[in-house]
Amino acid sequence: QTGLTIEALTKAIDAVVATIVDHASELTDLDMAIGDGDHGLNMKRGFEAVRGAAAKIAAQTPADALKTIGTTLIMTVGGASGPLYGSLFLAMSKAVADRPIDLVVAAEMLEAGIQAVQSRGKSHAGEKTMLETLIPVGAALTAAGPAADPAALTAALKAAAAAGAASTVPLRASKGRASFLGERSIGHMDPGARSSELMVGAVCDAFFA
Ligand code: ADP
Ligand code: MG
Ligand code: MG
Repeated sequence: QTGLTIEALTKAIDAVVATIVDHASELTDLDMAIGDGDHGLNMKRGFEAVRGAAAKIAAQTPADALKTIGTTLIMTVGGASGPLYGSLFLAMSKAVADRPIDLVVAAEMLEAGIQAVQSRGKSHAGEKTMLETLIPVGAALTAAGPAADPAALTAALKAAAAAGAASTVPLRASKGRASFLGERSIGHMDPGARSSELMVGAVCDAFFA
């Protein structure tokens, strides 16, 4: 069978856990500036719980593994980001529909996940959230098509993620805790946009490096 294997998915999980753990204090600092300072800890707790489910995940199909990841994140991350990242993975799982996961299916999955974040968060592009990263990454993956070169795709997705996260700095937040700050949310990177950037980078390195 071609397409994404559970081994590759497990490797990606390990890479995401590692980068979230490595950057937990940076995420906390970002959330300290415009939120309540728990994003690093929330994400670390959630992804360590995902890693704790590794044995279960290793015995699952990629679609079921994504569902396990989603439910685990919903149960353990907490805050606004837990249900949102949880919804992302649950919708990606649902979008697989028993197909082998190639780049075209992966793009459909990510687009479905982004839709789920938007409907769960009642949010859209431009509100200084994780969507500022996820939407351009989804567009870049969709644009890449079925036969993208791995190195070029990695570069394109990482560039989209970095530009998306950076684009949150001058934005004024209109969703989440940062929106309580109004104008004072301007000038800071959104923590969820940064955690999404980190996840995208880790997944690219695990899949394509
Ligand atoms: P909390 O704000 O409840 O403490 P976290 O700190 O874990 O939760 O996560 C905050 C992040 O969640 C924000 O930086 C933002 O990216 C994201 N977020 C918050 N509300 C929304 C929303 N309605 N839609 C999309 N993303 C959101
Ligand atoms: Mg917070
Ligand atoms: Mg909180």
